[in-house]
Amino acid sequence: MAVTIAENVAVIRERIVAACKRSQRSPGDVQLMAVSKTKPVEMIRGAYEAGITVFGENYVQEFADKLPVISGLRIEWHLIGHLQSNKAALAAELFDALDVIDSLKLAERLNRAALDLGKMLDVLLEINIGGEESKSGIAPGSPELNELLRGFDRLQALQLRGLMCIPLITENPDDSRPYFRRLRELRDELAALHLPRVELDELSMGMTHDFEIAIEEGSTCVRVGTGIFGEREPR
Ligand SMILES: *Cc1c(COP(=O)(O)O)cnc(C)c1O
Repeated sequence: MAVTIAENVAVIRERIVAACKRSQRSPGDVQLMAVSKTKPVEMIRGAYEAGITVFGENYVQEFADKLPVISGLRIEWHLIGHLQSNKAALAAELFDALDVIDSLKLAERLNRAALDLGKMLDVLLEINIGGEESKSGIAPGSPELNELLRGFDRLQALQLRGLMCIPLITENPDDSRPYFRRLRELRDELAALHLPRVELDELSMGMTHDFEIAIEEGSTCVRVGTGIFGEREPR
């Protein structure tokens, strides 16, 4: 199993390098995040031994169950699944970064929890870049997004790092391209506002089926699950 995971990681890395070359980017500017939801800790260890240090998990409780077994590994843990406000305190405690902020209310809860823990949390805003078709995230151009961005000035325990999106999966990976492009353009527009404590260097976009397209459109973090760990059982 570990051998297969190491081979999978090597193949994904080669594809990242090739996509960077096509788009005149440096492979060092694209982080490979292993998405380990539903997968056992032995597989996480396998990917870690293959050199991956950034992991994404979707479910707070599932992660709480796994973490004690692997807390000794030097891993940066990101929450990439929808976060309910009532799990915010636990998420703030367990994760290093929360990539799914979609309301000021949630950001305020996380900020309070992080202050209590004496901890800084990196966060990304999840943008609903595909409009009504996708389920979660904040709409570009909405008053909520504006309010949230301006709120960071007083959310002292949160450091905003960038944006993320999850376009609908379609048959043709190239269908994701306009969404990825739009996320990057949105980032550029928002960065030009120079709001206090708003850093938008990171663009988390691209999954197993479309990460190469995402890299061509400026992704700085690709979130790969199936391509590393194999298919998931339905939960
Ligand atoms: C599950 C998941 C991924 C990984 O998906 P794969 O298609 O298995 O690579 C990436 N991002 C998010 C937000 C996910 O929920």
